Amino acid sequence: MRVHHLNCGCMCPLGGALMDGASSGPTARLACHCLLIETDRDGLVLVDTGFGMRDVTEPYARLSPLFIHLNRIQFDPRDTALHGVEARGFSRRDVRHIVITHLDFDHAGGIEDFPHATVHVMGDELRAARRREGFIAKRRYRPEQWDEVMEWRTYRAGGERWFGFEAVRDLDGLPPEILMIPLPGHTWGHAGVAVDTPDGWLLNAADTYFVRHEVDRPERECPPGARAYQRMMAMDHELHLHNQDRVRDLAHDEGAGVRIFCSHDPIELEALQRLSASDARSRNAGTRAGQWRGETGAHATG
Ligand SMILES: [Zn+2]
Repeated sequence: MRVHHLNCGCMCPLGGALMDGASSGPTARLACHCLLIETDRDGLVLVDTGFGMRDVTEPYARLSPLFIHLNRIQFDPRDTALHGVEARGFSRRDVRHIVITHLDFDHAGGIEDFPHATVHVMGDELRAARRREGFIAKRRYRPEQWDEVMEWRTYRAGGERWFGFEAVRDLDGLPPEILMIPLPGHTWGHAGVAVDTPDGWLLNAADTYFVRHEVDRPERECPPGARAYQRMMAMDHELHLHNQDRVRDLAHDEGAGVRIFCSHDPIELEALQRLSASDARSRNAGTRAGQWRGETGAHATG
C-alpha cells in the first residue's frame, strides 16, 4: 500500500489569519486534502474528491453561488483528483473505489470524474444529502455532483471499535486497512477515514476541525472566522465539538501514535506531502540495500 496526499481544491475566503490563523494578507488559504491510495490488490482508492473537472468548467451549474463567493473557490484543473491520478501515471479507470467523508460540495465534486468507481459513504449522509432540508443543506449538498453514481455502498457503525471510536470495518471490496470512523456533527453522516499504512495509522478527520491548532494544542485554539464558519455549517454544533474533543484526545495519545489531519488546513497537507516523499525515498533506499544483501547471499531468503 502507498498513500499520496493530494490537494483537490483551493479556497481563499476573505479574512486572512482570522480564518486560517496563518495568512498575512487579506485572504486565507484553505486546501481540500484528499488521499490517493495504491492498494496491493484492489486498485486505486480515493478518500474524498474535493472539486472536480466539471466544477472547474461549469461552477455555476453545479455549485451554490453563496459558497463560490463566500469561500472564494479557486477553480483550477490542476487542483483536481483526476489531475493528481493522471500526473502519477494512472488513468481514471484505475480508481475503483471512492470513500467519501461526507457529501459537501467541497468533498464530493470529483466523484463523477471516476465513473467506474464504487462510492462508499455512511447511510445517514446519503439520506441527508438526498433530503436537502433547510437553507444550508440545499446549498451544501449538490446532487449535480453525484446523481450519476452507479454503485453506492452505504454503512452504519458497528462491530469492533477503533481506539475507542465506533468504526465501520470491512468496507465492501476494500482492504481491511481502510476504515470509516463516524464523527457526526458537521453533517449527520460525517465520518473520518482511518488507514493503516506501512508507516502507521493515519486518520483523515475531514471537517471535524478546520485549523490544526484546534487539536494539536491542549485546548482548542481556533481563529474567529473558522469558528463562525464551523458553527454555521454544523448540523449539530454540540456534537461537532464533542467529536472534535475526542479527536484532540486521540491526537495527544502518544501511545496510539495516530497521525491526524483535517481536510482544509494547508500546513498539515504540506507537512504530510513532505513526509510521504521522504518515506518513499527511504523505502527505495531500503529496497536497494535489500537487493544488495540478496545479491551477496548474506540474507537471501529465496
Ligand atoms: Zn469541507
